[in-house]
Amino acid sequence: MNIMSGMRLTFAEIYIKNFEANVKAIKKFVKPGVKICCSVKADAYGHGAVPCAKAAVKCGADFLAVATVGEGIELREAKIKAPILLLSYCSPSEMADLVKYNITPFVGDEEYIGFLERAVQKAFKAKTAAGTTDGKAKSAANAKLAKNAAAKKFAVHLAVDSGMGRVGCLPEDAAALAKRIASSKCLCLGGMCTHFASADGTSARDRSYAKKQRDAFVAAVESVKASGIKPGIVHASASAALMDKPEWQFDMVRPGIILYGYYPDKITQKYLRAKKTPLVVKPVMALVTGISALRPFKKGMGVSYGSTWTAAKDTTIGVLPIGYADGLLRRQAGSLKVSVGKKLYPIRGRICMDQCMVDLGSAKGIKRFDRALVFGPKESGALLTADDLARDAGTISYEILTCVGKRVQRVYIK
Ligand SMILES: *Cc1c(COP(=O)(O)O)cnc(C)c1O
Repeated sequence: MNIMSGMRLTFAEIYIKNFEANVKAIKKFVKPGVKICCSVKADAYGHGAVPCAKAAVKCGADFLAVATVGEGIELREAKIKAPILLLSYCSPSEMADLVKYNITPFVGDEEYIGFLERAVQKAFKAKTAAGTTDGKAKSAANAKLAKNAAAKKFAVHLAVDSGMGRVGCLPEDAAALAKRIASSKCLCLGGMCTHFASADGTSARDRSYAKKQRDAFVAAVESVKASGIKPGIVHASASAALMDKPEWQFDMVRPGIILYGYYPDKITQKYLRAKKTPLVVKPVMALVTGISALRPFKKGMGVSYGSTWTAAKDTTIGVLPIGYADGLLRRQAGSLKVSVGKKLYPIRGRICMDQCMVDLGSAKGIKRFDRALVFGPKESGALLTADDLARDAGTISYEILTCVGKRVQRVYIK
């Protein structure tokens, strides 16, 4: 038993060494000079945004990416200085914070640019005013600062919707929008990007769709260049395209899931090895629980809500203090297994909010408070990965990882 004081039996181990190894492996995999933007959105896919962002920067990440302004502020408050991209549109009331915390938004239409421009101008003016109305002693220095603030332009990345149907402008509108940004008093074009909808698939349809998107994006970038505007940092590929289409790496790539040790859909480790472009990443998170009680069960006794399972013979039921509020999926009752020692044991009956029950059979060699693993890397003792759970639940590793609850303490393993 190795339990820290004040810890629940349920927690998540974050093997930060694996995360760092993954960042380094990605850095080695991409072409020299290609920048890396590490996606730490959704609390770094459940792994803890600040520790992961710091580790990513330490291992050579050039940019970080978040999905909400709040996620960006969290990084800035942790003294992280790396450039931060905001991948989703935000609300007008959040825009002042983009300036305050230096978070770079994606833009894709005239209206949003207009909202942003007003917010940026207001934020710059506030800085200018602070410089001119302050006390005498500081005013000269502040006025200078304010002048710099006013002269400085706020960079945005022009997103092109080449087929994802989410964020960005139509490829044919890119040049006009780039012009609109370039002629703005307070904005400038820091980059151009797109996002692939089916780069994680290998079917003929997926491949031709991705290729069409790539071609449309390249045409949009070319049209911006042709109108005399520098596109800035050009980026398109998330994990899947990064690995499967090295020729689409452009100036920067935006890996997410592979940082955390999982492969996107069909672009698996096996597939990459067969293609002779291997990239090996290792899972980072282990979801750990423990046996809070060992209950000798007589044949016929029922388990959990609805008593959907009854013991067909005498057995030992272990109570696990982990439920769907911790990240188990309720729909996995009936198929979920946990690792205890070197064996897998089935969960019985319905998964409750905070607990579930495991059938330990004779429970030979198993003691109360023993560790039980839901998923994780090999070194955690887990026999299953988030991919195994995802396959079983008809979802993807992304969802299994981001569903791990807020109350599950993350413990960083060096
Ligand atoms: C989430 C996201 C990524 C990272 O995706 P992965 O599949 O996890 O690599 C990259 N770019 C954008 C725009 C995203 O939303």
